[in-house]
Parts: sequence; C-alpha cells; structure tokens
Amino acid sequence: MKNVFISDHPLIKHKMTKLRSESTEPKKFRELVREIAGLLTYEVTSDLLIKDSRVTTPLAETKGYELREKIGLIPILRAGLGMVDGVWELMPSAEVWHIGIFRDEESLKPVEYYNKLPVKPRVGLCLILDPMLATGGSAAATIDILKRWGVSRIKFMGIIAAPEGIEYVHKQHPDIPLHLAAIDDHLNDDGYIVPGLGDAGDRQFGTG
Ligand code: URA
Repeated sequence: MKNVFISDHPLIKHKMTKLRSESTEPKKFRELVREIAGLLTYEVTSDLLIKDSRVTTPLAETKGYELREKIGLIPILRAGLGMVDGVWELMPSAEVWHIGIFRDEESLKPVEYYNKLPVKPRVGLCLILDPMLATGGSAAATIDILKRWGVSRIKFMGIIAAPEGIEYVHKQHPDIPLHLAAIDDHLNDDGYIVPGLGDAGDRQFGTG
C-alpha cells in the first residue's frame, strides 16, 4: 500500500520479539520502546530537508550540512510518551507537543481531552508517536487536528499496527506516511491487536 512503510531492519525484528514477550518487565519494555523508536526515526527522517553549511575541523574548513526543518513530536498520551526519548536522542532540538486522546471503551471512538498546541505551528514536520495503531481512530483524529492547525508535513510513527487501523487511517488521510515496525494479524473484539503485545501503556507504566 502506498505510504505505508514497514521496517525490515534485523535489529528492529530482534527487539520486537523481546517487546512482545509477556515475560518482559516494564523497565526492559520501556528501554525497548525507546530503542525501537530511535531505529524507526532513522528511517522516518531519511527525507528531511538539509542545507549546506561550513565547518572547521582541527585541520581545515570544509563543507557541512544543517537540518532545514524544525521537527515537532506529537506523542499520543499516554503510550506515545515512551517513544519521545528515542527520537530525542537523535534530534534533541525537536519540540514536543501533547495531545491527549483516549478511546471510549464502549464505542472505541477517540475522545480528545487535552490539547496544548500553540496558536500557530512553529514546525515544518510533525511526527505523531503512538506505539499501537489499533482502530486508527486516535491517529486519524490527531492528523485531523494537525492539518487544521496548518502543519505542512505530517508523518505517523508506530510500532505495531492492525490491518484495520492502517486501512482506516489510509482511507481518511492517504497523503500521510505511516512508518511501522510490524503489521499484525487482526484486532480482537476488545480493540486489542493480535498477537500484539497487550496494552502498551500498562506495560510501560506498570499499571496492568
Ligand atoms: N492499544 C494497546 O495498547 N494495545 C493494543 O493492542 C491496542 C491498542
């Protein structure tokens, strides 16, 4: 499918297996979420715009490069928070904007409860972070908010997606690239991705 990118990186596959395991404890789980987010960042940012600059080494002045785009990270609370550090390690000047969306347990529809975006966008590229693309409701709602806010470039970065979630987001926003570590089999009746990894929020924050 156009605009859907699944990483084929061996390190990601290896870490994904540990992440999925029911015996992985919250401390290790958080580490893995951070590391996988960092590895995905490398792939997601491969088309960032750069400009020429100059740099002086201890031996001579030479050609260099600088990023041209300001990056905004939009972690979807709460599970998306664990991905921020992995991206920040590579792009420490990225701004982080919080949008809180929860899934109503009965309707499974997204409800926005927190939005701290400034009046005007100050960033060129927004990366939405959410480890689980399940129904796709939260991701599509966040993309709606960012488009209304006037961001010029948006990408979604997740860890595991259900085919149903990809289809939902792609139908509403075919222009938005979705970068993922894996696509799983299906969503169960409770809205969990199968085989998945369980509740990504509970597993990070030890609240299961
Ligand atoms: N959110 C999760 O944390 N896990 C799922 O499987 C689906 C949504």
